[in-house]
Amino acid sequence: MTHTPEGSGERHVRHASIALDRELCTSCIICVVECPAWCIELTSHAEPVPDLPPGARPRTHQVLDTFTIDYGTCLYCGICIEECPFDALAWDERLVPPPPDRAALVADLT
Ligand code: SF4
Ligand code: SF4
Repeated sequence: MTHTPEGSGERHVRHASIALDRELCTSCIICVVECPAWCIELTSHAEPVPDLPPGARPRTHQVLDTFTIDYGTCLYCGICIEECPFDALAWDERLVPPPPDRAALVADLT
């Protein structure tokens, strides 16, 4: 659900949960470090950078494996979204479903 404040043409996304675009995520861990609740965890692995120019030294980059947010401790402050330099995180209008137990509040966004 979205709402538009009266008098403004702006469309606001409900801050119900957080979405990750894994294609944009570089596993830089800035969001992990900046989150005041320490509720983001990710794992990644190194892969060779493809299509390097001839003569370039071999290089690797990190490829994301898992990315979780613990909605049991998330403050919905949006700092992770603001700090991501690659716009890989965004507010999502979908509510976190009622969990059967505490562990189910840890959501894998990948
Ligand atoms: S919204 Fe805030 S508390 Fe929740 S994961 Fe992002 S930075 Fe952490
Ligand atoms: S800050 Fe953005 S690019 Fe970096 S790990 Fe978090 S989501 Fe991925």
